[in-house]
Amino acid sequence: MSDNFRVKALEDNFAKRNINVLWFNSFQEIKKYILAQIPNTATVGIGNSKTLKSMELTTALCDVGNKVFDKTLGKTPEEVREIKRGSLLTDYYISSSNAVSIDGRIVNIDHSGNRVAAIAYGPDKVYIVVGKNKITETYEEAMKRARNISAPLNAKRAGFNPPCVFAGYCVDCNSPERVCYAVSTIEGQHVKNRLTLLIANEDEGF
Ligand code: SF4
Repeated sequence: MSDNFRVKALEDNFAKRNINVLWFNSFQEIKKYILAQIPNTATVGIGNSKTLKSMELTTALCDVGNKVFDKTLGKTPEEVREIKRGSLLTDYYISSSNAVSIDGRIVNIDHSGNRVAAIAYGPDKVYIVVGKNKITETYEEAMKRARNISAPLNAKRAGFNPPCVFAGYCVDCNSPERVCYAVSTIEGQHVKNRLTLLIANEDEGF
């Protein structure tokens, strides 16, 4: 499939599912776009991700006065828990994704499930930020990417050691170090314009 055809197919397939798609040259352009869209008075939930961390989005939102619910700001387990719960009812929610398929699906794999919960329901506006490396041709490839690439690399980043960290792929473990207790597929949106996919022409994250 040519690049132009892939772009058109992805846009058309997400549009049919009430999901907007916007393309950007870089993650810094996406950051500027998000900061221009969100009023300073809004509350914002952040789904923990390497992509958003590399954009320093939480810092930028805090600097302009937004109340930001980012679990990495928590100093104690109780604070982290309250931030995760608070992020479920923010005005805006921003997350990356583990894979988006050209047929119009968004796949995420989570440890405790707070991120997939907020993406699915709660915040009125949701931005999903991904690099072009997260795009897959099919839904099946998106699921494989989430389990075999995202989960092991995120486990390693977070300091967990489930078997996939060593194997390099999912072995469907029951390890106490398991990192994927919730796997979600967003098939579309009931409310039009709630969810927008922001895609950078760069590679970032897992
Ligand atoms: S089930 Fe276990 S092996 Fe598979 S991705 Fe999750 S943590 Fe890794």
